[in-house]
Amino acid sequence: MSVKYPELRRQIVRAFKIMERKGLNYGYSGNVSARVGEGVFIVTPSGKRKAALRPEELLVVDWEGNLIEGDGKPSVELPLHLAVYRNRKDVSAVIHAHPIYATVLSILRIDLEPVVEELALYVGGEVKVADYAPSGTEQLAENAVKTLADRNAVILANHGVLACGKNMDEALNVLECVERTAHSYVLARILGEPTKVPREVVEWEVKIYKMMRL
Ligand SMILES: [Zn+2]
Repeated sequence: MSVKYPELRRQIVRAFKIMERKGLNYGYSGNVSARVGEGVFIVTPSGKRKAALRPEELLVVDWEGNLIEGDGKPSVELPLHLAVYRNRKDVSAVIHAHPIYATVLSILRIDLEPVVEELALYVGGEVKVADYAPSGTEQLAENAVKTLADRNAVILANHGVLACGKNMDEALNVLECVERTAHSYVLARILGEPTKVPREVVEWEVKIYKMMRL
C-alpha cells in the first residue's frame, strides 16, 4: 500500500533510530511530528516501540487531531505538538523526548543557560523549564509554548524536552545540542561553579539565530 509523504515518514523513523542509538530516547516514550501542509501533520502513534516504527505506521492528522490517514491512536502528546505549530509559523518539525541529563534539570527545575555558545546559536537563548502539568494535557501544551516563545527548545518539568525546527534535521540537532549541553552542565556543577559565556557573545549568537529564521 502506498502512503502519502514517504520522505517525511522516512525522516521520522530515522530520527527515532538516531535518538535510541544516542540515548536521547528509549522504548515507548517520545513522539515526533512534522507539518506537511496547511493543517495537515504526520505524527507518531501511541503504544509502539519507537525505534522499531515503520514509515507506514505513522499517522496523518488535522488541527483537531482527527485521523486523515493511517490506523491507530495518535500520540497522547499531540496537543503539545499542535500548540507549537499554532504558535510558530516557522516550525515544521517537533520532537519530544526524555534524554537523561535534560530530564535531571527538569526534575530540579533548573533552566539551562547558554553555557556554551552553540546552545544560543541553535536554540536562540536559554532553555527554560515550563511550569509542571501532567502528560498529555492541554495545560502542558499551554505552559510549554508560553515558555518556548521564539526559541527552539523548552524543558518540561519532571518530564523531558521539546525541541523544534524548520525541518527534522534542525529539530534533531537542537535536541542533541540541548542534551549534550545539559550533560556538560550537570558535570560542571558537580566539579565546581560554572562560568557563563559573556553576555555580549550570547546576544550576538541569538541575533544570528533570529537572522537565520527570517
Ligand atoms: Zn513525554
